[in-house]
Amino acid sequence: MSFSALGLSDKILEGVKAMGYSEPTPIQLRAIPLVLSGKDVIGSAQTGTGKTAAFALPILSKLGVHNPVGPRVLILEPTRELAAQVETAIRDYARFTNLKVTVVFGGVGYGKQNDELKAGADIVVATPGRLLDHLEQGTLRLDKVEFLVLDEADRMLDMGFLPDVRRLVEKCPRKRHSALFSATVPPAIETLIQWAMHEPETIEIGARRTPAESVKHVIYPVSDSQKTDLLLELLNRVNYDSVIVFCRTKHGADRVATTLKRANHAVAVLHSNRTQREREQALQGFRDGKFEVLVATDIAARGLDIADVSHVVNYDVPQHPEDYIHRIGRTGRAAATGDAFTIMVAEDAPHVFSIERFISQKIPRVKLENFEYRYTALFEESKPGAAAGGFPGKVRGGRVHGGYSFSPGGRRR
Ligand code: AMP
Repeated sequence: MSFSALGLSDKILEGVKAMGYSEPTPIQLRAIPLVLSGKDVIGSAQTGTGKTAAFALPILSKLGVHNPVGPRVLILEPTRELAAQVETAIRDYARFTNLKVTVVFGGVGYGKQNDELKAGADIVVATPGRLLDHLEQGTLRLDKVEFLVLDEADRMLDMGFLPDVRRLVEKCPRKRHSALFSATVPPAIETLIQWAMHEPETIEIGARRTPAESVKHVIYPVSDSQKTDLLLELLNRVNYDSVIVFCRTKHGADRVATTLKRANHAVAVLHSNRTQREREQALQGFRDGKFEVLVATDIAARGLDIADVSHVVNYDVPQHPEDYIHRIGRTGRAAATGDAFTIMVAEDAPHVFSIERFISQKIPRVKLENFEYRYTALFEESKPGAAAGGFPGKVRGGRVHGGYSFSPGGRRR
């Protein structure tokens, strides 16, 4: 099935072609016709499935040409980085139209945003807080909105944005089309759906709880005191092109980044205590290959489209099982294969069990060959229903089943 059979406008098809997309992804196949037919849509696809184009292409097609009345499309995103990323994608898709898109988020001055809003944007991509500021200051109205997109709704909930989102939705006309994307649908999102959407159709791509099949993942049990040593050793041995290392806290991320820098890794850090400029530089540098390791917290890295991540390392086990899926979703995107490593200390065991329950999969425990473990108790531990104890048969001659290559000195660049 090609894009041209889906009913998109010629200008948007040109944009898709220029992006080099040859065929629609499963969510695009399902969502594009629905949005074009005027249906409200709930999408529960994972990140990396092409969901931005799934809603953007049909909406842009329906908008047609620029109209200075005020924004006709409002897209809400939980973080600045996501907002910026979605705006860039939309600019690309709409490059053969005269539609105007602008992005609105906090942490930067108001000047440019005021100018762009005044000039008349057809599409506004925004984080909730700053958008409310603009509404209060009268620099923006939402009374011409025809399409509302609530992206990463579960993360908006986690970040406490739902009250802001409700206030914003109330400012939009009742007669509109809505789309909502969420990896999970907890009760609060269900309520939002009931309240904000009109007879929505749900599209679920793949089982909601299944990590991308192209990602191979393993757990490295280790004692707390050797976590950092193990991380350094892993980075030294693994053939990586680009790695994201996830940490639980901003402080922890800074500490890990400092250690890695000392070990001569080219490292960037991404967390919400950094200024907008620092965050942009970190992301850009990582995308350009200037930094080969990005150390990040969950919130900062949520949903970011960072291409070609060869490995994800969970320096800390995620506290919420959904975050495991989101984290490892950074690798194996667009069907490229990727590896995800989770470093686990004794007290992480309950979190690991709940991740395994959540994804209905056992994650193999692996021991790093020739690493001087001070304690090995974790390897022997074998709770009923857990995947512990599986490592010895998995390691053979420096190679672990599933293709993890640990031949020393193997960094590609
Ligand atoms: P998303 O899930 O929207 O963050 O998209 C993930 C990545 O897939 C982005 O780099 C998109 O540019 C890319 N992408 C989206 N749709 C397609 C497609 N139909 N063919 C190839 N790549 C795509």
